[in-house]
Amino acid sequence: MAVQQRRTSRTRRNKRRTHIKLKVPTLVKCPSCGEMKRSHHQCPNCLAR
Ligand SMILES: [Zn+2]
Repeated sequence: MAVQQRRTSRTRRNKRRTHIKLKVPTLVKCPSCGEMKRSHHQCPNCLAR
């Protein structure tokens, strides 16, 4: 098993994790019911009825 030779610096670690970010879904107002829904997704409120 490989043994780590040196500690990863804060900068290197953060650079590796640049693609890991908080997902904030784009919410748009549903044209039929006015509820907030995710863009390009079926509105769960409209789907229910
Ligand atoms: Zn809707």
